Amino acid sequence: MNYTNRTGLSDSIASAVKAFAQDYDKVGDYSVTTLIDSPRSKLLTERHGDKVTEDVSDLLWSFFGNMGHLIAERNTDASSIAERRFIYKHKGKQISFKPDLLERDPEDFNSFQLNDFKFTSVYVLKSALNGTPKVEWVRQMNFYVWCLNKLGFNITKIKLHIIARDWRMSESKREINYPAQACGVVEVPIWDKDKADKYCNERIDLYIESEKLDDDDLPKCSEEERWADPNRWAVVKKDSKASNITGYRKALPKANSFMLRSDAQQFISKRKDKDNLEVEFRKGESRRCSNGYCKAAQWCNQFNQDIAPAF
Ligand code: SF4
Repeated sequence: MNYTNRTGLSDSIASAVKAFAQDYDKVGDYSVTTLIDSPRSKLLTERHGDKVTEDVSDLLWSFFGNMGHLIAERNTDASSIAERRFIYKHKGKQISFKPDLLERDPEDFNSFQLNDFKFTSVYVLKSALNGTPKVEWVRQMNFYVWCLNKLGFNITKIKLHIIARDWRMSESKREINYPAQACGVVEVPIWDKDKADKYCNERIDLYIESEKLDDDDLPKCSEEERWADPNRWAVVKKDSKASNITGYRKALPKANSFMLRSDAQQFISKRKDKDNLEVEFRKGESRRCSNGYCKAAQWCNQFNQDIAPAF
């Protein structure tokens, strides 16, 4: 990975940001955060890493998150384990992970509660407080628990400490469903042993098998892995012209976003001008691929053949 410093951050800060990013990259064969993610994205980025460039300013939020972890670590009591990297060897592979904080369970001294800190948006905090934390967090935490169990730690609770970077006091006074504070603590259920065994083994196997494949043959990224918006259907006039920018024709009012083609067709069937109307497909945007979040896009045949061509 090559780093740029386009905003001119001080060399010390830029070096610290890089050091944190590299610490993440280098340890063991796979990190847990890698294993829960798309093998296509991860392996392409790794294989072409010497040609990948990242600007340190794009890593700042993750850097601030790490700073918070370090400050918290300084204040943990002696019986807790903070910011320690663990390695669990399984199927010949070293799986590395670094839980933010393992605290002794107050009701069972020989067991631990797993705490992790997440910096995110108000939108994500709100969902988590309403009982729907991000699915990748749930997978990551349960993968940690699975590995920790294998290493002899008994984990009794998972607690996510979720901090919303864009929280506003003024909004919290105005909006009924807005979180009252900028952070919340959300408990994540621990999976039963069979579910955790199945999930973790499948992910490790998927990576072991994917490593043997050429770039173009890697498993395709799912909609979830591409952060894809769903495909939609719109109703348009047959004789209308496509936009040079979007490639789509102008949809009729209240007819630009049907989830099902059949709903769009039903809309047409109720119109007097139905003979002049037709359904147009609107491909959902894969935000991770198209907006630069995946550094592998230029080497990805799925992106270049299926996603990038807009129309
Ligand atoms: S560009 Fe998109 S499809 Fe290709 S590896 Fe990245 S996330 Fe997956």
